[in-house]
Amino acid sequence: MSTIFGQIIEGKLPAEKVFENDRILVIKDIHPVAPVHLLIIPKKEIAMMQVAESDDLKLLPEIFAVAQQMAEKFGVADGYRLLVNNGEMAGQTIFHLHFHLIGGRRLGPMA
Ligand code: 5GP
Repeated sequence: MSTIFGQIIEGKLPAEKVFENDRILVIKDIHPVAPVHLLIIPKKEIAMMQVAESDDLKLLPEIFAVAQQMAEKFGVADGYRLLVNNGEMAGQTIFHLHFHLIGGRRLGPMA
């Protein structure tokens, strides 16, 4: 796989993994913007939300369920942000679909 996340999924680059199954990997963000900043990454190489195909979209319920579990595990179930940067204009830098789960401090308004 071609991106940093692909390399992490393949075990070629290190990462702090906090959850993994056959379809989804969750790692800690290397540059956290809050006390809890996780990246929920489908293992399938999907470049961005906008190009996800109907089969890919079937992963979404599981991604949301994993987000709920991670929020509980990391003590932020009472307040967190779950977001996707889709495309360069939105700030996407790694073109392998991933969901940011951010919490652990009071979050300001969205930009
Ligand atoms: P994007 O800007 O594409 O939505 O998010 C990419 C995220 O990946 C950023 O928050 C960035 O800090 C994180 N990141 C970049 N390189 C690495 C890495 O090698 N390891 C980990 N764990 N996170 C990374």
